[in-house]
Formats: sequence, structure tokens, C-alpha cells
Amino acid sequence: MRWLLRSLPLLLLTLPASAAVAAATNVAARQGTPTPPLSTVGIVTPSPPKPNYLDGPQMRTSHRWRRFPVRVYFAPDDAYSPERGRTVQAGFDEWTRATGGVLSYVIVDSAADADVRVHLLSVPHLADSPTTVGLTHTSSRGPWLDLARMDLAADASVTPELLTEVAAHEWGHALGINGHSDDPSDLMYGVTVRVIHQGAVSVEPPSHPRTPSLRDRNTVRKLYADRFATAH
Ligand SMILES: [Zn+2]
Repeated sequence: MRWLLRSLPLLLLTLPASAAVAAATNVAARQGTPTPPLSTVGIVTPSPPKPNYLDGPQMRTSHRWRRFPVRVYFAPDDAYSPERGRTVQAGFDEWTRATGGVLSYVIVDSAADADVRVHLLSVPHLADSPTTVGLTHTSSRGPWLDLARMDLAADASVTPELLTEVAAHEWGHALGINGHSDDPSDLMYGVTVRVIHQGAVSVEPPSHPRTPSLRDRNTVRKLYADRFATAH
């Protein structure tokens, strides 16, 4: 939570100074009045896209990639096949599409060159928990993401539709969304929570993989506000 609080002003400061801010500052300078305090600047700075959940109750401090495209490497695990790789990429592609290509990725052939390493494992769920089908670990330096590892359960019981949806959800984490939405209609809601309860709750694989919602899209737009501001 300490870092979450620290991240808020950083996000505001990454927003571009609008023409209105520049004009107001110039007028203030000519008139010999002090530069407006940050709180005043905040009023005329373009508002972050809403609704979003970047500062929601289930979120921790989110970090960002410094450069795009993010480089993705598929490890040659037992469940990897080119077909499964494409099924996973279909989930990643939903975010590329939803962000107009601003948050893009590229596949690389070497783990050493990768930002994100994807592991497709021939298990019905991950070893960490009997109820987890996808897991993404990220490491960071300062505000920047440094490396990510994504584990996906991908044995024969995991349908392509489910794999695509879980991959899309996990890619949201890999892009920097560090937590979950509190709205069940969002892709970044605890989807893995919904699909993983294989005990008393029956699993109903999605007939159509879910895609980033408006709130999901707004959340990454807020996280990468500077990048979206210069994208068009
Ligand atoms: Zn998640």
C-alpha cells in the first residue's frame, strides 16, 4: 500500500501538460505570479480515462514496460506446440487490438532476449495451488517492469477457449496490471478464481473467450497515460 500511494502522483505527473496548462503557466510567468501548484495543474490536466480500477481495492502498485513491443518467448515446455502458442497469442492479441497497437509485443526465439517468458505446462492446474490455471510473476526496477514469467496450465483438459481467456487475463498482468478488477464483467476480474474452482464448483469453460472491457482498456490507458498521449 505504501508503494501504491507513492505511485499516484507519479501517474498524474506522467500526464502531458496540456496546451491549457502551458498557456496558463506562460500567462502566470508574464504577470510575475507564481507557477500554479501541482494541485492546480491537476485540475486542468486531461482527466484519466474513466471508469478504471487502477487504484481499486484489489490492486497493488502497478509497474510499466519502458519500451514496446514487449518481447515474448515461449519456452519449449512439454505442453508447448505451435498450435497452443497461437491459442495463447490469441489472448495476448486482444490487448494489442484493444489498445490500437500501442501496447504491442513480438515473439523472440531466445529466452535471453525476452521480457516475458511463457511456460505451457502439461497439468490441469499449477503446482502452486490446486485452483490456479494461470500465474504471472513480474519483477521491476523502480517504476519499470524488468522481467515477467507466465505459467499456464495447458493439458488436454484445458480447452482452447479457456486457454485463450486465461492467457488474455495473464497478459493483462504481464502488461503491468498488478491486481484484479472488482467488477465481474471485466477480463481482469479474478477470472482465474472463477474458472479454477474444480472442487465443489463445476468449471464451465467459456464458449467465447472474454476480451478486455472498457474498464480494462481504461486501466491500461491510465497506467500508460504518457504513451497513449503521444500515440496520436
Ligand atoms: Zn489474475
